[in-house]
Formats: sequence, structure tokens, C-alpha cells
Amino acid sequence: MTDKTYQPLKIFNTLTRKKDLFVPLAAPYVGMYVCGPTVYNNVHLGNIRTFLSFDILYRYLTHIGYKVRYVRNITDVGHLVGDGDEGEDKIGKMAKLQKLEPMEIVQRYTNDFHDVTAEFNLLPPSIEPTATGHLIEQIEAVTALINKGAAYESNGSVYFDITKYNDAGNEYGKLSGRILEDLLNETRDLDGQSEKRNPLDFALWKKASPEHIMQWDSPWGMGFPGWHLECTCMSAKYLGKQFDIHGGGMDLKFPHHECEIAQGRALTDIEPVRYWMHTNMLTVNGQKMSKSLNNSFLPSQLFSGDHELLDQAYSPMTVRFFMLQSQYRSTLDFSNEALKAAQKGYKRLANGIRLAKILKYSDEEVARDEKKIADIEKSIQGFYDAMNDDLNTSVAIANLFNMLKYVNMLNMSQVKSAALGEATFTSLLENFIVFIENVLGLKEELTEGHAVLDGMLNLYREYKAVQNYEKVDEIRTYFKLQGLAIRDSKLRVEWAYEE
Ligand code: AMP
Ligand code: ZN
Repeated sequence: MTDKTYQPLKIFNTLTRKKDLFVPLAAPYVGMYVCGPTVYNNVHLGNIRTFLSFDILYRYLTHIGYKVRYVRNITDVGHLVGDGDEGEDKIGKMAKLQKLEPMEIVQRYTNDFHDVTAEFNLLPPSIEPTATGHLIEQIEAVTALINKGAAYESNGSVYFDITKYNDAGNEYGKLSGRILEDLLNETRDLDGQSEKRNPLDFALWKKASPEHIMQWDSPWGMGFPGWHLECTCMSAKYLGKQFDIHGGGMDLKFPHHECEIAQGRALTDIEPVRYWMHTNMLTVNGQKMSKSLNNSFLPSQLFSGDHELLDQAYSPMTVRFFMLQSQYRSTLDFSNEALKAAQKGYKRLANGIRLAKILKYSDEEVARDEKKIADIEKSIQGFYDAMNDDLNTSVAIANLFNMLKYVNMLNMSQVKSAALGEATFTSLLENFIVFIENVLGLKEELTEGHAVLDGMLNLYREYKAVQNYEKVDEIRTYFKLQGLAIRDSKLRVEWAYEE
């Protein structure tokens, strides 16, 4: 039987460009940092795909026995329009537009983010630090980098010195595989870059012009921190100079994560992160889903079906299941067909869960079915093997459906529980429930509690016994309106999700 503790998990490490066996620095503890949202507008479904992928990692690591400290920040200052060193702060710009305080914008969209992540059943992180809550740490880091000669002040701003960094034997570009000469060619000499010694140098601290509304005092005058610095400071504060896992979407590899490595190494001479993980993008007709491309939709639009790209409404768990059907490193293209198929698949699993919670072992005189026992055990191990293979949720779900086949056979008495033996019977049902609810984080979506539904089913039986078919139909409609159906067979009468 499978022992779940410390499974041999392999993770695709962007730094080594291969699947590496995951060995934490100090087992059973695992430190994990994920770049959180920039809270200047509503999160869209693409963002959710990234946070869901790390929710699965967090859940799986916890499931196999690790004690995980999961840090996911909130970016509330420093992320500029265009993702570079010039332009307006995304939050400041929105504050001006909506005539609100920047912190009102931050609060509004942080609340939205929390509501949406709860709808999708994402677990909250252990710590959710904000960039503005760590200005002292950031100013200290800039000072330390200047003192070490790794950064320089220029006209009230402070820049990281890429030339010095590389001359000291480091390799800026190693994470993203970017070549320095190419980067230089791509970099236009924009206004303001003349402050930099090398056009590739990036801002650690920016001088604020008077109209820039988010600014703080510092040894270099009034200004604000560079976007990349917050993650270096907050990860080091809560997870240490070197920690296990750092994640984010692929689009953050460069410059954001490349700069984090440079800052970390220059500050401590240590490689800050052991495993870098990057999720692939949710696309629409092959294009990255993004606000700026006008092809994004909000979770609320998905739940109501109110968008021109949507044929119907989809529930949070349908969407969660849809996303889990592909592994996090492959692109996932949104389509109504795939979502409709996911809706069916999710409901089949939900029915399985309902059955797995009520099926009971019965000790009858039947021969053991060794073939079925072996197949069930292979599926359980298969689920782990798939998750251990860089969180291949797609293959893990295929194994789950094989387990579901046996749950349904038990329910229909096509196989007797005694033919599986008590150990395999229990292991099948327990693992089936734990894999779905704890590891994949899929939960029941009912508007009524089980007790109410069971009560209604009792009424159905009573009306049927006295042949009151009008009432029987009313009760059927009641179930149907909730996406449920009454299954009335020779064996029993029960309610189920309409598949
Ligand atoms: P942002 O709020 O723009 O910093 O993005 C938050 C997270 O969502 C980052 O890790 C991004 O890489 C990720 N992200 C943005 N768009 C997509 C997308 N279409 N698919 C998957 N992840 C995305
Ligand atoms: Zn970050």
C-alpha cells in the first residue's frame, strides 16, 4: 500500500531547465514564495490559473507531510505601467482616474482578490505581506547594496549596477536565458535612462516627481521602491536568505525574477532560491489572456455567463477542474467546449464523492478479485506518480477516474466490497475523497445542505407511495433547478448531480 509521506516529488526548475528531485533545505519545513497580484484592478481568469497552480503545490506538499510556510505578497507600490523603470505607478494611475486614495484602490482590489480566491477554493497563504508594509526593509537593502558597491545613486534614484555584478562572476540573464548583447540591442535609450551607467541597470529606488502621489522620504530624497526589490526583501525576511521554492507566471521570469536573483546574490553572496517554478499562460484563441489585449474576463462574468465569449455560466469548481485538466507548464486555451466537458467531468467526480462517503463494507462470502484489487492499487499509486512528475494533474485525474469506476461499480453492486477485501475497499474510498478534496481542492457546490435534500427525497418517496404524481414532479423540478436529479432505480432512490 502507498505510503504518502515525503513522496519523491520532481519539480521542473527553470534555473536548471530540468526536472529536479525536490529536497527541502530543512525538511519537514518548506519555504515557498509566490509573486502575488498588483492590486490596481480586478484579477482575471489568467491570474487565477497561476495562483491555482501554486495552490495545488501547497496542498500537495502539505499532503505528503511537509510543513509549508507559504508567502504570497500583495504588490501595492512600485509596479509601473509597462513593467519597466519609467512611467506611472499602476496603482497611482488608477487612484487618479477614480479620484480615490491609492490605499483605497489597494484595499478594494485586495478584497476582490480575496473574494475570488475563496470562490475558487484557494487556500490562504501563511503570510501575505505588502510592499508598502516593508519600506524600511527596502530602504535598508538599497543602503546595503550601495555600501557594497553593487548599486549607485544618480539624481535621487538608485540603480543596480549590472556591469559590476557580472564582473564579479555573476551572470545576469541566467534564469530567463537572455543574452546580454540581445538585451542591450532591445533596450532603447529612453528619456531618463541617461541616469544609468548601463542601459540594463534597473531601479532599486526611484526619485518621485511632485505629481507622483505615492512617495516616501529616504536617504536619497523623496521617492518609491523599484518593483523587484519588494520580493527580495519580503522573501528574505520571512523565508531566509536562501529558500526552497519561488513561483510566478512565465511572464515574470524577465525582468522581475532575474532582478530578484541579482539583488539576492549581491546582498548575500548566496543563490536566493533553489527551485524556480513558472506557470504557463491561460490563452484565448492562442493569445495570452490579458487586460491590455481586451480578451480577459472576470470570474464574476464567468459565474453569470455575461460575456460575449461565453455560451453559458460556469461554476467555480467547473473552472477549477477545467484548469487542473492540463499540467501547469502547458498553455491552456479557453473554450466553451472544454468548459462544458469539464462541467460533466466535475459532476461525475462530485457524484463519486457523495457515494464514497456513504458506501459501507459488507463482509460477504465472495471470492477475492485480485485483478480488481491490483488495478485499484495501481490507480492510487498512479495518482502519486503523476503528481510526483512535476504536478501532472492531467494524468493524476485520469487515475482518479479509474478509481471512480470502482466506486460506481460498488454502488451498483457490480462488484461486492468483500471481493476487494476491507483494506483495499477502505483505501479506495479514503484516497478517492482525499485526492479530490484535499489535494485537488474540489468541493461540493450545493445551494442546500444534505439534510434538506435528504428530507425532500423522503417526501418524494412518500408522495410516490400514495401515487401523488403532481407532487412527485414538483419535487423533481426542485432538484433540477439546483442542477441535481433524482435517480430512481430498482436498487434505491437517491439524488445526484445531473451529469
Ligand atoms: P500581475 O497582477 O499582473 O502581477 O499578475 C499576477 C500573476 O498572474 C503573475 O504571476 C502573472 O504571471 C500571472 N498571469 C498574468 N496573466 C496570466 C495568464 N494569462 N495566464 C496565467 N497567468 C497569468
Ligand atoms: Zn515578485
